[in-house]
Amino acid sequence: MILDKFSLNGKAALVTGASRGLGHQIAVALAEAGADVACHSRENGGASAAIGTITNLGRKAISVVGDMADHNVPQKVADTVLEGFGKIDILVNNAGMIRRSPAVKYTEEDWSAVIDVNLSSVFRLCQAVGREMISQGHGKIVNIASLLSFQGGITVPAYTASKSGVAGLTKALANEWAKHNVNVNAIAPGYIETDNTSTLRADETRNRQIIERIPAGRWGNAHDLSGAVVFLSSPASDYVQGHIMVVDGGWMAR
Ligand code: NAP
Repeated sequence: MILDKFSLNGKAALVTGASRGLGHQIAVALAEAGADVACHSRENGGASAAIGTITNLGRKAISVVGDMADHNVPQKVADTVLEGFGKIDILVNNAGMIRRSPAVKYTEEDWSAVIDVNLSSVFRLCQAVGREMISQGHGKIVNIASLLSFQGGITVPAYTASKSGVAGLTKALANEWAKHNVNVNAIAPGYIETDNTSTLRADETRNRQIIERIPAGRWGNAHDLSGAVVFLSSPASDYVQGHIMVVDGGWMAR
């Protein structure tokens, strides 16, 4: 039956950046669909809210910790989840950051920090988890991209470069790993109400301009991504490879 194909019963998932915002809700959505979830956060205890909710749903939840700017953390995170769950069926690379400044003033430190966390750590974690998925013969990877995987954005050059890189990396890995039954796809969220976009919402003019351009006429919320992430994590998407799924209230259609 078709709805059975959306079930994540018996699956083990890892979600990075599950402390707040989209990552928190993604972790809860995967658990609601049946998965046990390893919730990554930068600080100890950072994902306790998601872990509490998932445990209340009757699923297993474990905590994994580490700063994704550290080159060694992705492998350690993968190893900890493999110790805890014995496998990883689903990886959602969600942790990310943004630093705003005009390009001519953009510092080397800001550039490196954003590229390291948003792009390089995604590659490192895909590599560490992808090896396991290839050897177990299946897996689902969902990278969180952005509208700035397609557009230039305003005074966020490193963020745009990183998210355009995530889209390219998603397609590159899909090309290599589809034959191993490992699906690599991405979700490009539109303008969603989280800490990441608080500066935009606080700017009356930008806030108005953004809402005016969204055909749905409103900012998105973290729940708006749940259907897409469950779909791309489930057998329902087995023939979907290297796709960047836009969830944006119609922004890109305008
Ligand atoms: P958010 O509320 O700012 O949350 C960001 C998450 O990433 C937090 O869990 C944060 O952990 C984690 N993180 C940041 N830097 C990290 C690091 N160095 N090491 C480990 N974890 C780190 O942002 P969000 O809106 O939920 O964003 C989630 C993802 O969606 C990001 O990749 C973002 O680029 C993308 N996205 C968001 C939007 C939007 O409109 N909100 C649109 C397109 C794409 P801490 O709690 O420890 O800081």
